[in-house]
Amino acid sequence: MSTLVIKDLHVSIEDKEILKGLNLTINTNEVHAIMGPNGTGKSTLASAIMGHPKYEVTQGTIEIDGENVLEMEVDERAKAGLFLAMQYPSEISGVTNADFIRSAINARREEGDEISLMKFIRELDKTMDFLEMDQDMAQRYLNEGFSGGEKKRNEILQLMMIKPKFAILDEIDSGLDIDALKVVAKGINEMRGEGFGCIAITHYQRLLNYITPDHVHVMMQGRVVKSGGPELAQRLEAEGYDWIKKELGIED
Ligand code: ADP
Ligand code: MG
Ligand code: MG
Repeated sequence: MSTLVIKDLHVSIEDKEILKGLNLTINTNEVHAIMGPNGTGKSTLASAIMGHPKYEVTQGTIEIDGENVLEMEVDERAKAGLFLAMQYPSEISGVTNADFIRSAINARREEGDEISLMKFIRELDKTMDFLEMDQDMAQRYLNEGFSGGEKKRNEILQLMMIKPKFAILDEIDSGLDIDALKVVAKGINEMRGEGFGCIAITHYQRLLNYITPDHVHVMMQGRVVKSGGPELAQRLEAEGYDWIKKELGIED
């Protein structure tokens, strides 16, 4: 089992403090949903975990099994088992999807232990079938001209091929029709197990109907302010966030 521990995390963007003492612990074999109003710092949390240079950690710690993540470069974080599916995946012209995924797999392996081309192609074919993706998506430039739904499905393809220890999925459900949502959920559920933990950031219960989270957290004003089980997400869907604000005495 692996554990990702975030303690008292403070993060600033251009000297504005966005995360203000966030605590979160995630084990492999667990799916955590993070919900919360717009602008509370959910994407900031994802970026800070991955080491985006714009996000300055001013206080607190992030560790995987006791290893200091904050001291790692972005590529070292990936090698340590972290994976981020971004809210807005970027396009990379001139790099095919297949090449990108193969490089990402090999970058996480030791020299001399690279995945063989045959094995890679076999796994890619199988996984694309599983995700009901067109085989020609493999040879297209990364995310270039992909529809919103194709981009999200492709993030799950990367996830399943790269097999990280911890995945952070930032609004992986946004803009998906119901069929695409089911496929995305199928991929995440397939990953669930001993060696895999997941943070799914979402606004909607809809995703959580297909991926039952083990834990649900509510973020407000740069902190996790409430945690519970799947029933917490259902209550948020029905009642919004006002009752939590009232409970905690948070002003808008
Ligand atoms: P959420 O994902 O919960 O909607 P974000 O983490 O995207 O929230 O944003 C939190 C706050 O940080 C917002 O006030 C947003 O305007 C600000 N912010 C986020 N990213 C940047 C950035 N790159 N530059 C400046 N401000 C940012
Ligand atoms: Mg948002
Ligand atoms: Mg966001």
